[in-house]
Amino acid sequence: MYADELKQKVTLLKGIGKETSKSLAAIDINNISDLLKHIPRTYENRQDIVTLSNYRKGPVNTIVEVTDHDYLGFGANKTLKVHLKDETSSAVLLCFGRNFLKQKLIIGKKFFLYATFEYKFNNLQTSTFEIEEFSNNPINFNKIIPIYPLSGKLNQGILRRAISEAIKELARYTKNQLPEYLIKKYNFIERKYAIKNIHFPESINAISLAEKILRYEELFYLQLTVGRKSKSRRNNPRQITDSKYKMAKLLKNNLPFKLTVDQEKVLEEIKIDMESDSPMTRLLQGDVGSGKTLVAFISALRIIESHGQVAFMAPTELLAKQHAENAAKLMEPLGIHLAFLSGNVKNTQRKPLLSALAKGEIDLIIGTHALFSGNVEFRNLQYVIVDEQHKFGVLQRMTLLNKGDTPDLLLMTATPIPRTLTLTLFGDMDVSTIKTMPLGRKPVKTHLSVMDNEKKVYEAVAQEILKGHQAYFVYPRIQKSDLSDNIKNAEDMFEYLREEIFPKFKLGLIHSQLPEEEKSRTMKNFTTGKINILISTSVVEVGVDIANATCMVIEHAEYFGLSGLHQLRGRVGRGKEQSYAFLIYTKEISEIGKIRLKTMMKYNDGFSISEEDLKLRGPGELAGNKQSGFLNLTYADLIRDFKILEAARADAFEILETDPGFLKPEHTVIREVFKKCEPFKGAVENE
Ligand code: ADP
Ligand code: MG
Repeated sequence: MYADELKQKVTLLKGIGKETSKSLAAIDINNISDLLKHIPRTYENRQDIVTLSNYRKGPVNTIVEVTDHDYLGFGANKTLKVHLKDETSSAVLLCFGRNFLKQKLIIGKKFFLYATFEYKFNNLQTSTFEIEEFSNNPINFNKIIPIYPLSGKLNQGILRRAISEAIKELARYTKNQLPEYLIKKYNFIERKYAIKNIHFPESINAISLAEKILRYEELFYLQLTVGRKSKSRRNNPRQITDSKYKMAKLLKNNLPFKLTVDQEKVLEEIKIDMESDSPMTRLLQGDVGSGKTLVAFISALRIIESHGQVAFMAPTELLAKQHAENAAKLMEPLGIHLAFLSGNVKNTQRKPLLSALAKGEIDLIIGTHALFSGNVEFRNLQYVIVDEQHKFGVLQRMTLLNKGDTPDLLLMTATPIPRTLTLTLFGDMDVSTIKTMPLGRKPVKTHLSVMDNEKKVYEAVAQEILKGHQAYFVYPRIQKSDLSDNIKNAEDMFEYLREEIFPKFKLGLIHSQLPEEEKSRTMKNFTTGKINILISTSVVEVGVDIANATCMVIEHAEYFGLSGLHQLRGRVGRGKEQSYAFLIYTKEISEIGKIRLKTMMKYNDGFSISEEDLKLRGPGELAGNKQSGFLNLTYADLIRDFKILEAARADAFEILETDPGFLKPEHTVIREVFKKCEPFKGAVENE
């Protein structure tokens, strides 16, 4: 059977010995199927003759005759020079370290030659060339040649031979895998020819035809798994009760502002999900400060009103606490019972809390990772909200969901996710988006400053503080890692700024290594305005919401990624006043670092920034290591092939409508895709 043949070790192929198989294993090629998936990074067209006289236009691809041998230099260091000619000109090959070629490149014999020449010392010459004895059926000439990614001891010759063997052996087993009507719809070539032509194309056109089906096929099976996942989640019918949304109305009436159009729209989308007889799985994306938390709270009221329980999980203690405090202000007046849980909640408090939760006496619990630990039990968990979802693994989410009976799920993210990823990684979810910002917000003004000029930034900050506003200073490190470390760090800068620069102002320091009580105290003092300037690390990156802060100073901005920079900048610009971000960088900044800072200058909205980030880092990186395996595709590229992705998704979802069991185990391609989807299925933990 095809699948079994593909699983055979590469050593079964003619000409592959132990040494080569070791080199192959080093780049994860173990069986024949892996080998076939090692696709060329580019091709060289050696179909058409390019004579020596055309050497200026690029590589020469011609048929030559050897005319003479002589040497450059003397004694042990002498180098063979091979003189040759084609119809148009003569030239010289310099055979450094390869004097043995004299035996092979015999005078009077004809050869195929591929090389890039230079005109030097009255001669066309080169020292790197590919040459093969002239014949009617050459291996590496007269055709389009694949150029493979190399590593270790591998060379093009070895790979070409091995892959050509693999294709010869297996071509007869290769069958079409896509349904016939899709092959017709897109005019795809047969799979067998696609595999052959992706490696050894008959023509330039054949490459594109092969790519066309292989890219589509890969994305189609990917979307089938996504679609099946989506269906199985929704196939969990449940009882729902009516709601009059009394609490939501009350809460909205108590707000000092009106919800934005998009907030209302998302609440409506959630309402429809919650009233449907299968559980909600929704991703809520919205820029920093767009008011997602409030939407989540209001949506929770429907569940609480009908005596269900809600769990709200945030990635840091700082953020979870802030949410809990806000929730208390908004919800306790409505008679809702709240609780806060983190790893730092002491046993004496934890025990009664957990028992109240298990008895159903707590309506809404807000907390950190502590929420999915084993001893946390609910009486009736109906709704799970995950803030800053990218900080959690799939399994962690599942663990929390499993504490209830088909609860609704809302994932929130402040780093907007490019479409390519919402269609793949989150392809089984519904997506809601908040684009409009609360009224009266002014876009943050961003300034770049090279280190050495930072005093000017400090002065600008002082002016803002004198107006009664507050500022953040963010550093890439907590403290010096060793004596030679001259990257500015939060602890030293706290001392320096407090003593030398801002002696009249009140400064606070916050980072992950400080005791919990100290962190809370500092945060509280910053919230109430007792601290003017908060010195920190990227712990303030997520969620922190203090409207009176108008300055965000990031030193060594080149150490932060685009989404981090955007999140940090999002800490300001939350009130009615004009806010500023100062990005200070060192002269040693890399090219990519420069592009990142320019992107920050150019764009204020997270949607554009995340698209730029995708271009800089690629989808795998962007999704985080945890999930990137899923996006390591062989043929397709999520950015380049976005159109194909959309088409494949539509086709896959359509098939599942009429034939939910379409994905059959005998589809070998699918098995391979499935293997890649492991993180997606929740089988792999991220930590
Ligand atoms: P996100 O989590 O989306 O980054 P937050 O939930 O932190 O945003 O909200 C930012 C701030 O804006 C909060 O202080 C919140 O109370 C406030 N806010 C939310 N919605 C509105 C609105 N419609 N009008 C004015 N302010 C709002
Ligand atoms: Mg938030």
